Amino acid sequence: TDIGELLLSRIRDVADYPEPGVMFKDITPLLADPAAFTALTDALAEIAGRTGATKVVGLEARGFILGAPVAVRAGLGFIPVRKAGKLPGATLAQAYDLEYGSAEIEVHAEDLSADDRVLVVDDVLATGGTAEASVQLIRRAGAEVAGLAVLMELGFLGGRARLEPALAGAPLEAL
Ligand code: 5GP
Repeated sequence: TDIGELLLSRIRDVADYPEPGVMFKDITPLLADPAAFTALTDALAEIAGRTGATKVVGLEARGFILGAPVAVRAGLGFIPVRKAGKLPGATLAQAYDLEYGSAEIEVHAEDLSADDRVLVVDDVLATGGTAEASVQLIRRAGAEVAGLAVLMELGFLGGRARLEPALAGAPLEAL
């Protein structure tokens, strides 16, 4: 699509970052381009509207940069899912496995209710581990998952297949 081409043209491939053998997708050129950043925000806000979301959850850290303007544009509240130890209030935590070791994410439980339908926003879907843990966290907080929307999906890592059971029919949209 036209928007897909525009967005892709503003993503920079950085070889051997953060470690040898990895081709990192750097979204900072896209953020620096107001036409591309606006087009991305509008497209994600359209997904929020179409899926009937009542809240936008952004995943630390680039999911904050993308998710916050989407929430404002869609007229919805924004909720950060943060790495463990960063949120001051009462949190729910979800651990997940990394290639080496494990990680933990948290959310302020009181910011989500049983009436909420949550659109999860992040920049890149890689293995799907972070997104899967977020979906589990949102459900444990009592809310429904409206969908997962990302700028870019790295298809060869199999994140979509991994996420299917957790999403339970909710859409995964990659622009
Ligand atoms: P996953 O849990 O799906 O393996 O990794 C996804 C998380 O790592 C996302 O929060 C995303 O921001 C980050 N990530 C992984 N690979 C890349 C990449 O190539 N570029 C960017 N911008 N983020 C990445």
